[in-house]
Amino acid sequence: KNLKQYFPIKKESLFKPKSFVKAVDDISFELMEGETLSIVGESGCGKSTTGRSILRLEQPTDGEIVFNDKDLVRISNTEMRKVRADLQVIFQDPFASLNPRRTIKQTLNEAMAIQDVVPKQKRMERMLELLECVGLPAEALNRYPHEFSGGQRQRIGIARALAVNPKLIICDEAVSALDVSIQAQILNLLKDLQKDFGLTYLFISHDLSVVRHISDRVMVMYLGKIVEIADKKSIFERPQHPYTQALLSAIPTTDLDATKEKIVLKGDVPSPIDPPTGCRFHSRCPLANDICKKVEPPLKEWNNQHFVSCHLVK
Ligand code: SF4
Ligand code: MG
Repeated sequence: KNLKQYFPIKKESLFKPKSFVKAVDDISFELMEGETLSIVGESGCGKSTTGRSILRLEQPTDGEIVFNDKDLVRISNTEMRKVRADLQVIFQDPFASLNPRRTIKQTLNEAMAIQDVVPKQKRMERMLELLECVGLPAEALNRYPHEFSGGQRQRIGIARALAVNPKLIICDEAVSALDVSIQAQILNLLKDLQKDFGLTYLFISHDLSVVRHISDRVMVMYLGKIVEIADKKSIFERPQHPYTQALLSAIPTTDLDATKEKIVLKGDVPSPIDPPTGCRFHSRCPLANDICKKVEPPLKEWNNQHFVSCHLVK
């Protein structure tokens, strides 16, 4: 609720006011138990920062993050440590997050030991179960990260996240570094695990073909704001926001819909230090008019649970 994540930047001179990178600027949304909500947008739109705020890897500037009736923004570090087993994360590059000098057994063991959710005598059994869940052989335990392919390493990353019986997993570009065929395998694995363990996913991705495969709902962010949020079908079939329309038009398509026109946006995403006034998208929007520069459009329900922030959408 009203989540803000501002990062102060160094003052250039004593006389200039302090400025901030407004990475996430007053966003509110719900994540339902058991669903996959994707966050999409170009880099620098606040997707990862939103995920990091929920994990409290960054302390939010303002707002609330209510998880199981607790406000994660305000609970103590001790309380947060207890909640942490429920919230896990899978990153883009598992190689960077797996310690190269530790065997898989050491890595999984360590994850369970930190959270202390699996008693010591049960850990070996649990590790074997985990490997089976993610489709790796038991021999993997005694090997090191470099002995595995990218896809296998991502399976290890998933096993590590599952080790502590989480409720919510934040997948930050979790399949972006993999080949398309491997991507499909990992996405299917994530879907199966979701069914088996009742997991909830917050799936951060810049890749809309991946998002189309995995999501229940999709949230589109632009410069720290939510510009559109709806169920997947509604977003893909009836996108309302000009930014969403542009993102969707850029997905490579089959010859069947070759008639679809590609919308090319002008320029890059503006700086989040001094974002455009009014609608933040106005400097790149093909439909912008005078009011767009002055008044910020509210996020309004356009149709059944389909919310859009644009003056032209009634
Ligand atoms: Fe474009 Fe105006 Fe809508 Fe913003 S409010 S998306 S500038 S038409
Ligand atoms: Mg990111």
